[in-house]
Amino acid sequence: MAIIFDGHNDSLTREDHDRFAAGREGGHLDLPRMAAAGMRGGIFAVFIRNPETADYRPVQSNRPGGAGPAPELDHSFAAAASSAAAGRLLALERGGHVRVARAICDVDAAAESGPLAAVLHLEGAEAIDAGLEALDLWYAAGLRSLGPVWSRPNAFGHGVRFRYPSTPDIGPGLTEAGKALARRCAELGIVFDLAHMNEAGFWDAAALEAAPLVVSHAGAHAVCPNSRNLTDAQIDAVGATGGLVGIVFAPAFLRPDGKNQSAGTPLSLIVQHARHVADRIGVGHVALGSDFDGTEVPDALGDVTGLPRLLDEFATHGFSAAEIEAIAWGNWRRTLARCWGEAG
Ligand code: ZN
Repeated sequence: MAIIFDGHNDSLTREDHDRFAAGREGGHLDLPRMAAAGMRGGIFAVFIRNPETADYRPVQSNRPGGAGPAPELDHSFAAAASSAAAGRLLALERGGHVRVARAICDVDAAAESGPLAAVLHLEGAEAIDAGLEALDLWYAAGLRSLGPVWSRPNAFGHGVRFRYPSTPDIGPGLTEAGKALARRCAELGIVFDLAHMNEAGFWDAAALEAAPLVVSHAGAHAVCPNSRNLTDAQIDAVGATGGLVGIVFAPAFLRPDGKNQSAGTPLSLIVQHARHVADRIGVGHVALGSDFDGTEVPDALGDVTGLPRLLDEFATHGFSAAEIEAIAWGNWRRTLARCWGEAG
């Protein structure tokens, strides 16, 4: 069975997170189910919902024109809530359940038989002040991946609002603080993740030439014209920097009709997005970015235990065993090593 590294989940911010280690009803991820699926590594997001809306879904409109952007998060609130969520991952590490991956050797150990490699990720950098003083503290705590924006504006940039059909070219690019954040992440060895970034911000990040372009969870705009997906020009830019696209499992970003409908969304659609990216920039630059516990996934997948079925689907559609191993593990491993440094 192939081992799996998944590029994005929201499990840290689920309410029943206290049962993550022992197993829980519902949701997509917990340690027993990950072990059963061969998932040995993943990027664990700290995602903070806006306290006024409590539930972020109302901003995810699929109506033409889409909803307005989610309101900005208050910095103090985000710092406190993000610290609490990160603390949950550190507690799992203290309990011996995971290893917070701080260097590539931690990922390699998980590939052997060590504990699950969990990369700490901020999905929206509102917890970090525009002067970046908190970034070193977060790095010391284990932060190795950071998305400057979720789909809302903040001090660093403008997250792309959810729209279908729509280009991702909505709103202005990175702020000066956002560019400084990208440079500092490259210096420290923190992945600068462009999922949820609008197109202007994406090109601003590309122009910095600071690091490989990484998009942890998105699809191909040519297959599903949602604003969250990558245009062919963006995909080509990712390839030109030796970066990576993690294919998301959310039906709204997979289905050509844009419906957020789990029923009747075939696993082959995930493969189709991966194929589109691979045909443009090579199999070495496509991987998995589920968004488990942050979105719906196709009923045909169900939860993390469906991942071996997904890999079988890749084989059915002509991907070789070596290519599937790269998509499932090797491509994330290589990209993390490039961003962090091989010696770590
Ligand atoms: Zn996300």
